[in-house]
Amino acid sequence: MADGSELLTDLYIGGKAVPAGDGGRFDVQDPATGQVIASVADGTVEDAMAAVDAAERAAGPWAATAPRERAEILREAFELMTERSEEIARLISLENGKALADARGEVAYAAEFFRWYSEEAVRGAGAVTTAPSGANRIVVLHRPVGICVLVTPWNFPAAMATRKIGPALAAGCTVILKPASDTPLTALAMAGVLADAGVPPGVVNVLPARRSGAVVSAMLHDPRVRKLSFTGSTEVGRVLLREAADQVINTSMELGGNAPFLVFADADLDAAIEGAMVAKMRNAGEACTAANRFYVESSIAGEFGRRLAERMAALTVGPGTEESTQVGPLVNQDAVDKVDALVRGAVEQGAEAVVGGGRPDRPGYYYDPTVLVDVPADAPILREEIFGPVAPIVTFEDEDEAIRLANATEFGLVAYVYTGDLARGLRVSERFESGMVGLNRGLVSDPAAPFGGVKQSGIGREGGHEGMLDYLETQYVAVQW
Ligand code: NAD
Repeated sequence: MADGSELLTDLYIGGKAVPAGDGGRFDVQDPATGQVIASVADGTVEDAMAAVDAAERAAGPWAATAPRERAEILREAFELMTERSEEIARLISLENGKALADARGEVAYAAEFFRWYSEEAVRGAGAVTTAPSGANRIVVLHRPVGICVLVTPWNFPAAMATRKIGPALAAGCTVILKPASDTPLTALAMAGVLADAGVPPGVVNVLPARRSGAVVSAMLHDPRVRKLSFTGSTEVGRVLLREAADQVINTSMELGGNAPFLVFADADLDAAIEGAMVAKMRNAGEACTAANRFYVESSIAGEFGRRLAERMAALTVGPGTEESTQVGPLVNQDAVDKVDALVRGAVEQGAEAVVGGGRPDRPGYYYDPTVLVDVPADAPILREEIFGPVAPIVTFEDEDEAIRLANATEFGLVAYVYTGDLARGLRVSERFESGMVGLNRGLVSDPAAPFGGVKQSGIGREGGHEGMLDYLETQYVAVQW
């Protein structure tokens, strides 16, 4: 890369870049053109076992490393990532397609997990209490859970990795990261940052692999592995929960979302439109937190729809790596086909595309920013994650109806509400079946806050103090003294 750090394209095991055991490689594309930008080593099951061996060798010494030392290494990783932010943002933009502004935002967010967990590493808490009988003391300790397998998606290739690696390392665990095959270069760049920050060999291993099922399954059946942290679709999450059951592996699951975005007639409409643009269009809609369904009180729905359509129509679509671009391409052809099928389905059922509704005529994996009105209640676009720049609008009459519609999904990651009445905002927040709520805000992600879902959106939390607990086991010692 231009900062002098080298672009890693091999596996990263035991502190070394190594080719795949069978010599296999796979291509990484630029979604803006469909052109191949790199060829990356394709890890095998044997490579996965070598990564577990390396993580095992490093586990004892890393767990025994003083928390302050682990903290300082993580802090250095934050500094280095901040120094290299422009290079990393360009790499994210190149392999994922997102606009540079989004990529820069992701790098800042991702680096912050290293800083936050450098601070948490030295705040380990235990407890000593007296048993109710008075006979003995109860000592509660927290210990690293052990070797962790981390599996991440392509939509935030840096942040989804650091949101797991930061707390794992702070807790004293060693890890094997299996990044998404669309975006392995950013994950490998994270390995470079961590190595340069002083993370010892074997503490962090990165294993790009197209045969993700076989490679992850082999690790989950190795008795040395004690933790799986997965971020991705609910569909794959269910498969991995079953796999993890065989060895009763500790799991954290950050899965899909279907976020409702409620706008009440008493809301500040300017703020609601701003919030809607952030909640919908960050990453061109390729976010688990993306507003997937807009429910607007009927008396203001016309005006909200018109203003949102105006803002969406004014966005500049283009290659993510161009400075003027606000909306980059989607990640690959399958993503475009999925979005297009959902939009066509809704239109066939009676919805109207007031802006967009198709693909622009250019190479690459683009989809036009789209606003749909009159969307029928049973349209699949309201049930499935769109993962693209499409905003379906539905009207509601009162608070009970809005809540019923918002909660009518198996997902429960995040929900948004705009209202000028704070009491209503808090009441509605409590009635949402979701792990997170944006109350008069279109963005909830914050390294200092517990991120995660309820229902089929997941198990466990990342970020905040809670995020580190996911990498610690509780041990209780009954003491007579
Ligand atoms: P995905 O589930 O297809 O893949 C995620 C990861 O799992 C990738 O690394 C992939 O290679 C791997 N994988 C796929 N099949 C596997 C298998 N059988 N065994 C082991 N690993 C396997 O998801 P995606 O398309 O990369 O990402 C988009 C999804 O991620 C969306 O559903 C989105 O909502 C979700 N997501 C959730 C959060 C969250 O924090 N809740 C954050 C970002 C993305």
